[in-house]
Amino acid sequence: MTESKKPLKKPRGRARLIDGRCIACGARCESSCPVNAIEMTASGEPVVLTDKCIGCVKCVKVCPAQAIEMFLSPDEQKILNELMAQGAPAVEEVDEDAAILAKKLSAYCGVWVFVEQTEGEVAKVSWELMGKGRELADTLGVNLSAIVVGEHVEALCYEAFSYGADQAYLIDAPVFRHYRTDAYLKAVCQLIDAHKPEIVLMGATGLGRDLAGAVATVVGTGLTADCTGLGIDDKRNLMQTRPAFGGNIMATIMCDKFRPQMATVRPHVMPASERMENRPGTIIPVSCQVREEDILTKVLEIISDRKNDHVDVAGAEFIISGGRGMMGKENFALLQELADELGGVVGASRSAVDAGWMPQERQVGQTGKTVRPKIYIACGISGAIQHLVGMQDSDLIIAINRDKDAPIFEVAHYGIVGDLFQVVPAITSRLKSLKRLSPSPGQMCINA
Ligand SMILES: Cc1cc2nc3c(=O)[nH]c(=O)nc-3n(C[C@H](O)[C@H](O)[C@H](O)COP(=O)(O)OP(=O)(O)OC[C@H]3O[C@@H](n4cnc5c(N)ncnc54)[C@H](O)[C@@H]3O)c2cc1C
Repeated sequence: MTESKKPLKKPRGRARLIDGRCIACGARCESSCPVNAIEMTASGEPVVLTDKCIGCVKCVKVCPAQAIEMFLSPDEQKILNELMAQGAPAVEEVDEDAAILAKKLSAYCGVWVFVEQTEGEVAKVSWELMGKGRELADTLGVNLSAIVVGEHVEALCYEAFSYGADQAYLIDAPVFRHYRTDAYLKAVCQLIDAHKPEIVLMGATGLGRDLAGAVATVVGTGLTADCTGLGIDDKRNLMQTRPAFGGNIMATIMCDKFRPQMATVRPHVMPASERMENRPGTIIPVSCQVREEDILTKVLEIISDRKNDHVDVAGAEFIISGGRGMMGKENFALLQELADELGGVVGASRSAVDAGWMPQERQVGQTGKTVRPKIYIACGISGAIQHLVGMQDSDLIIAINRDKDAPIFEVAHYGIVGDLFQVVPAITSRLKSLKRLSPSPGQMCINA
């Protein structure tokens, strides 16, 4: 019986600079290196960090002065000699590009959630992301970190722990009191550069969209905006699902060659994690040198867009929405009456908004708000995909439509085929009479 001998692998060697040859051409070798194994001196000459070099030969190929060569250690030279003596073909290591990529990606670890705050008040979407972030971190077997930037915001780190974070990077200084792109961009990029997370999540709010785009551009990675689903594939890549082509398909997007993988998620798309008081966590204070005089913008005053009559459709627990079937602006009074009985708000489809029957801030759907109420009642709404993506995660959906084949019935838990002008007033009047009998809403029950 012959014993099979493990074939020798051809050594790759390491790069090194040949003395006196470098012409300081402008750091082409540095930018060609996939593993950052080349650093430049003040005089523009490269220094090869041999312990980091993976022998990919890219720097050797780009050097216009042939100033970089490959060399073998004595042990590697011995292996090469043996291979040559055997006359056997050297066995290459795995696919060179794949090995380089794998090494590059493996330097990144951990899931991060950016905690968005305005004057110390956290945007709820951050806690929704913390819930999803916890799930992703557990799947990957890594830490979940919160990024907290602002002034006097240490308390938010403890909040982040209670929503699932293991640790929080805290950048706390007067210059970060108000959100300004250049200051926050520098802070987040500095953190990414130093700690290399594999996933960074932000809310798809005005602030989050602005910051995420800028960060992804500076760190040179991809960003998937407005995701509705996030998961992990068998190669540890983040699967980022979002509507595409006008909402007609759901596309799953991967960023498998760059890190970190960045995604924004709209408010109310994901459930917030359960709050656990006094959950432990570690605060990692980080100082970030940003000078006020280097920032191009100043915040003079914050004016809330929440007028007295502002209706928060996205945060409502009961929503009664009307579509083109409402036939006119004045008929929305029927829905308002029902909403008043339920303690809810009136929403609308885009057709109703485009017709001028309801303001844009009430629009539900892909180009409107994403909602997740306890009860969503769709009145005279057909159920186009662009509407469904904004409300299909509601706890209970009731649809009223006179067309029994309307697509809205496919997502509805209860469907009423009939004329809304008869059905809606009937429900309202039934609620009123039930309330008279039993004033406590907790004791009410409607018999079908
Ligand atoms: C890029 C893009 C983005 C979009 N974004 C959004 C978005 O964010 N939100 C959104 O809603 N749409 C959006 N749309 C538009 C969407 O495609 C539909 O056109 C829209 O949702 C239809 O609105 P609707 O259901 O009110 O009207 P219709 O589709 O006209 O439906 C009206 C329904 O009312 C029923 N009806 C009529 N009379 C009665 C009655 N008396 N009683 C009971 N039922 C009655 C009818 O049977 C019908 O089903 C978008 C489209 C595009 C291309």
